[in-house]
Amino acid sequence: MSGLWPGDVQCVVNLGFDIDGQSNWIGRDPANRDRPVLMTMGDYGPKVGVHHILGLMDDYGLKASFFVPGYTAEQYPELVRDIESRGHEIAGHGYMHERPAELTLEQEIEALDRGLEALEKVVGHKITGYRIPGGDASEHSMSLLAERGIVYDSSLMDDDAPYIMKTDKGDLVQIPFHWLLDDFPFYAFVPAADLRGPMCSPVSVARTWIAEFDGLYKEGRCMVLVMHPQVTGHPSRLAGLERTIRHMLTKPNVAFMRAADIAEHWLSRNA
Ligand SMILES: [Zn+2]
Repeated sequence: MSGLWPGDVQCVVNLGFDIDGQSNWIGRDPANRDRPVLMTMGDYGPKVGVHHILGLMDDYGLKASFFVPGYTAEQYPELVRDIESRGHEIAGHGYMHERPAELTLEQEIEALDRGLEALEKVVGHKITGYRIPGGDASEHSMSLLAERGIVYDSSLMDDDAPYIMKTDKGDLVQIPFHWLLDDFPFYAFVPAADLRGPMCSPVSVARTWIAEFDGLYKEGRCMVLVMHPQVTGHPSRLAGLERTIRHMLTKPNVAFMRAADIAEHWLSRNA
């Protein structure tokens, strides 16, 4: 055991899925609403991809974290409630996937509150976890989250285990990730948004993620995978994720935890 985790646990894995749907594309440019290919590519996530993902989670008995922009929650309220009723976690992710670093403070506050309000209305309780959209927090983001009683954020990149962040509005558990463990950079081929990524083979992505996992496992750290149903929900990519999960399950004392549970453990450990 590494000493960071409960009991005999050596390494923790968080499977996270950001259900951006259309919001990511509209958030980039409202004129994208008039581009049906882009909009339907986004729709594939909540309409189809997420159901493939939920099936995979059920096959392995795993619980995941789903980060949901307010706009997606308004479009697919039943889906969001269904995900939560299956034991997965619902956490915040902006309203229209606004990137705080590109906003004024007033705009950031408006997007944050609107997103949380929309999501809370759908699930019927307070949201306590968050991932900043677009991996682009502002200098204010963390204290704004703490001020709203958010318990953890999973958006920064300076560690591979959680830590407690001090802000001027209170403490926050930070659960860092890295682009290396995000599906978008590997697969993002979206000409209408001028993203012409390499469209990597899922086998090579799984190989990369497995190599990263092996290192994190050895060191007893935390692997935070950031995936998107419109990206990883496609069958070949899902097979790449399954390959990664199967590898993880060959190792003893690996715990798959929802980000909320990681945060709770971290707070009790540091109490
Ligand atoms: Zn997102």
